[in-house]
Amino acid sequence: MKLVLFSGALFAALLLFQSSVAAQPAHTPVPGGVAVIALPANTKSARFLGNPVLIIGDSEKPIAIVGIAMDQAPGPAQLDLVSGAIVFDVLEKSYLTERLTIQDNNKVTPPARDYDRINRDRQEMMAVFESFTTDRAINAGRLEFITPVEGRISSPFGKRRILNDQPRSPHSGLDIAAPEGTPIKAAAAGIVRATGDYFFNGNTVLIDHGQGLITMYCHLSKIKVELNATVEQGEIIGLVGQTGRVTGPHLHFSVNLNQARVDPALFIAQP
Ligand SMILES: [Zn+2]
Repeated sequence: MKLVLFSGALFAALLLFQSSVAAQPAHTPVPGGVAVIALPANTKSARFLGNPVLIIGDSEKPIAIVGIAMDQAPGPAQLDLVSGAIVFDVLEKSYLTERLTIQDNNKVTPPARDYDRINRDRQEMMAVFESFTTDRAINAGRLEFITPVEGRISSPFGKRRILNDQPRSPHSGLDIAAPEGTPIKAAAAGIVRATGDYFFNGNTVLIDHGQGLITMYCHLSKIKVELNATVEQGEIIGLVGQTGRVTGPHLHFSVNLNQARVDPALFIAQP
């Protein structure tokens, strides 16, 4: 009887361990990755490079999920607590580089008349990325995303592009190719913080999942949600399209965490 009880307890512990592993991204301390850092009990807040970071878990075992920007230099980095700091190492990661030649130079360097609009778009998106909603109830700390669209990855996160010999910012999201009109699902529950028709990104939806975790969906043919609407995981938010500056129908899906654009694949549960 004793033995049965013991193995039952062990089994329960294993299940708990497995579910907690699947429910959060893996510790991937590289540029474009996330650091998963255990915090002292009762830690309520922490900052990375001055920005508040997402904290999950209960008050006994809080865990910080820290986004690391692509331009973060490898080496020691520091998570600041109210008293003290936790040092962790950012490791190197090399991403693919692609050289492209595009004949229409207006698509590489937009004409000056579009600068005002491009700046307005950028400010609108940045305001959402910079927001930090402390209400944990928005997504109840669930960090396991579903893929917003089934399809081929046509361009991975982090790829560096050199257009007509001009180096561009690394790819800040994941491109999923799918036929025009394919429904796009919210990767997780959240609140719609911006909808717009932007110069580069076309029809776009930004969803806040709480604590600086924001997903962005671009190039939609149609937006199916209203600003400030609450969405459930899997709810249809729009349709795949090719609006903005693109060459074919696909979804550009990006994940923003404490103002860093990180690899969306880290949040999507592998089947
Ligand atoms: Zn893209």
